[in-house]
Amino acid sequence: MENSEVARVFYEIADYLELQGVPFKPKAYRRAAANIEGLDGSIEDFLKKGELNEIPGIGEAIAEKIRELIETGKLEYLDKLRAELPKGLLDLLEIPEVGPKTAMILYKELGIKSVDDLKAAIFDHKLQGIKGFGPKTEEKILQGIRIVESRAGRSLLNDAYQTAAQVLSYLQEKHPGQMMSIAGSLRRMKETIGDIDILVASEEPGKIMDSFVSIKGADEIIAKGDTKSSIRLKNGIQVDIRVVSRESYGAALQYFTGSKEHNVELRKLAISKGMKISEYGLFERKTEKKLTGDDEKEIYRMLDLQFIPPELREARGEMDAAANYRLPELVAYDDLKGDLHCHSEWSDASGTIEDLRDKAEELNYEYVAVTDHSQSLKIAAGLSEERLADQVKNIRTLREQQERPWVFAGSEVDILKDGRLDYPKDVLRELDFAVISVHSRFKMDEKEMTKRIVTAMSNEKAKILAHPTGRIIGQRTSYEFDFEKVAEAAKSNGIAFEINSFPERLDLNDINVRKAIDYGSTIAINSDAHDPSQLEYTRFGIATARRGWARRSDILNALPLDELMKRFGLK
Ligand SMILES: [Zn+2]
Ligand SMILES: [Zn+2]
Repeated sequence: MENSEVARVFYEIADYLELQGVPFKPKAYRRAAANIEGLDGSIEDFLKKGELNEIPGIGEAIAEKIRELIETGKLEYLDKLRAELPKGLLDLLEIPEVGPKTAMILYKELGIKSVDDLKAAIFDHKLQGIKGFGPKTEEKILQGIRIVESRAGRSLLNDAYQTAAQVLSYLQEKHPGQMMSIAGSLRRMKETIGDIDILVASEEPGKIMDSFVSIKGADEIIAKGDTKSSIRLKNGIQVDIRVVSRESYGAALQYFTGSKEHNVELRKLAISKGMKISEYGLFERKTEKKLTGDDEKEIYRMLDLQFIPPELREARGEMDAAANYRLPELVAYDDLKGDLHCHSEWSDASGTIEDLRDKAEELNYEYVAVTDHSQSLKIAAGLSEERLADQVKNIRTLREQQERPWVFAGSEVDILKDGRLDYPKDVLRELDFAVISVHSRFKMDEKEMTKRIVTAMSNEKAKILAHPTGRIIGQRTSYEFDFEKVAEAAKSNGIAFEINSFPERLDLNDINVRKAIDYGSTIAINSDAHDPSQLEYTRFGIATARRGWARRSDILNALPLDELMKRFGLK
C-alpha cells in the first residue's frame, strides 16, 4: 500500500471526526497523515521493521490502524465512521465557507447530503429558514460552490467573465497599446465555460508570458511556453493565453473564438470561393497569396458575409443568414431601460428598496421593480398580505420623494399547484404588476404543469413568467411542460418570458429564447437580484438573448418607462 493511500485514509477519518464535532483527534489524524505523506521510504517497510513508532505523531492506536490497513486492505474503524454519516458530507467541506459545523447543521436541519443537495436548497430558498443563516451567508456559500465547480472544470459564464476581465485589465496595464481579447466559448458567451482563452498580438511574446504567469491570484502554472501558457487561478479557473503576430491577429481571433462547427462551415465556404482560411489568415488557394489576416471583420467581409457577432457562431443558421444579409440586429448590451425582477430585504435579500433604486440610477435605468416573494414562500420570508400592503405604501411614498428611476411595486408571486396565484385578487390589484413563478412541486407531469402555468397566466396582473423552465445549471433540468401551449397563452395574455440572469439560472436558455421569439413571444431580461450589486447580472441575460437571436424589439424592458406603463395598463 502506497504512503499516499494510507495518508488519504487518515485524512478521511479526520474529516468524519470533525463533522461529528470530536475535539483534538482530527488534528492528530491529520498530523499523522501529513507525516506519512512526507515519509522518506515506504510505510510498509516501517511496519515490517517494527519502526512505526519512530514516525512523529504516530502512537499506539494509529500504528495499530496502519497495521490493520496494510495487512487487510481495510479499516473497520473507517467503515464504521462511513456508515454513520453520508459520504457526500465530506464534499461539503471542500466548499470555502462551509466548515464541519455548518455542514452538520445543513445535514440535520435540511437533510443536505451533497453539494448538489445544497445547491438545490439555495435555489428553493430553503437555507434562510435555518436560524443564523441570512442572505449574506447564503451568497457566500453559493460563491464557495462556484469555486468548487470551477476547480472541477465547469465555470459559470459570470465567474469566467469577471475573471477574464481582471486578467485582461492586468495585461493591458502591463503592456499598454497591445491588442488583446477574450476568445473561445467565453467570447461567444456560452452559459458555462471550460477555461478562459486570451489572445494577444505582440512581437515580444516572452514578455507577455512573464507577466501572465506572475499575475496575482495565480495558484499553479500549468504550462509556460514561448507563445502559449496556462495557469490556474485561486478561484479554480484555468486561463490559457496565446500570443500571435499582429498580421494574423484577426484570423487567430476568428479561429480561436470558434465554435468548431461554425469554423467548419466557414472553411467550406472559403473553399467554395477558391480561398483557404486558417488561424494565420485568409488566402487565395491557387497562389497562396494572403488576402487578409489582421482584422477579423475583414475576413467575414471578404467571404461576402455580414459580420457575425461571436454569440451567434454556433452553426445554427448564422452562415446562411449572414450570406443573405439577414442577420437580426441583436439587442445591445446597453439596451435595457430597467429591471423588472429584484428582491429587497423585505423578503430574503440584502439591501433596501432605496439601495435598489440607487443601483438602478447608477446603471442609467429609467425604472426598477421590487418583486419580493409571496406569502406561501415562508422560508424565503415571503410577504404576508399586510406586509405587502405596507411595502406598496412605502414605494408610493418613495416615488413622491424621487420620481426617477421609477420604482414599480411588484411581487414575485408563486404559482400554486392548481394554477391559482399566491395572493387573492384584491391584493394583486394594488400591485403595478406581478412576476409569476413556479417554486414548488417540480415533478408534476407535463399535462398538469402546463395547465398550472397556463391557468396562472390568465391573471390580469401577471406580466412576466419568471425562470420559465426552472432549470439550475449543473443541478437540475427543466420541469416538464408543453412549451408551445405556454407560449401561446403567453402571447394571448400579453405575458413575457423571462431570461433570468442569475448565474446558475440563465433561464430561458439561448435555444428556448429563440424558440419563444419564433412563437412571437416577448422576452424580459431580469437580474433576480438578491443584492443590489447583482443588478449587473443582466449582462449575461442579454448575452443569452443575443445567443437566442433576440432583437431589441423583442425585449420588454428595452421599452422606455412610458411605453412600458402603457403595456402594463398603468396609463
Ligand atoms: Zn423565483
Ligand atoms: Zn426572484
